[in-house]
Amino acid sequence: MTNDGRLIVITGPSGVGKSTIVREVLRRTGAVYSVSATTRKARTGEVEGRDYFFVDRESFEKMISEGQLLEWAEVFGDYYGTPARPVREAMSAGGTVILEIDIHGGRQVHQKMPDAAFLFIGPPDEDELKRRLSGRGTESPESIERRFARAREEICVATGSGIYTHMIVNDDLDRTVRKVVDIVNSPDDGQEQEQV
Ligand code: 5GP
Repeated sequence: MTNDGRLIVITGPSGVGKSTIVREVLRRTGAVYSVSATTRKARTGEVEGRDYFFVDRESFEKMISEGQLLEWAEVFGDYYGTPARPVREAMSAGGTVILEIDIHGGRQVHQKMPDAAFLFIGPPDEDELKRRLSGRGTESPESIERRFARAREEICVATGSGIYTHMIVNDDLDRTVRKVVDIVNSPDDGQEQEQV
């Protein structure tokens, strides 16, 4: 894969506010969002080709076997993956590409492209994360528990992995967005560390 542009990998537990952060970072920078493919059903308001490429399991497995994906993982029983070609094309045109992917995907990208910037966005604390997951109003109590357990695991793995050199605590949305914008805009990928 060519390396003219930059790749920014953003990972964080469900409910931490990643989508809002990424949307705002895209608005404030010239970065390009990598649209993932997934087998999960579209949520209300999600648009094909903007939020995800919604595909069935058979098509997704074909993408895997044909090597079309830069990385992929199974999350909550559904497949999610990054189509490699658009990322490669945007980067060879000198663009900065943002991937919003889970920790397993982050590992795979780290193996292939260790020069990417790896950001982990964590909640201020566990109680706050639980409040945010419940406050969405879209998930059942079981789903909230499942997401919460996974969030704990992700935070633990991310902290121990050594991959995520930028650990950002989302205690204030605007502050978090500014930190991510700074990383996106800094070609030498300045290191700033915080404990999650
Ligand atoms: P959601 O269903 O809430 O949109 O996403 C669930 C999880 O899947 C989130 O942690 C999100 O970061 C992750 N995810 C979304 N797209 C991808 C992808 O292309 N690859 C991987 N590995 N994870 C993804």
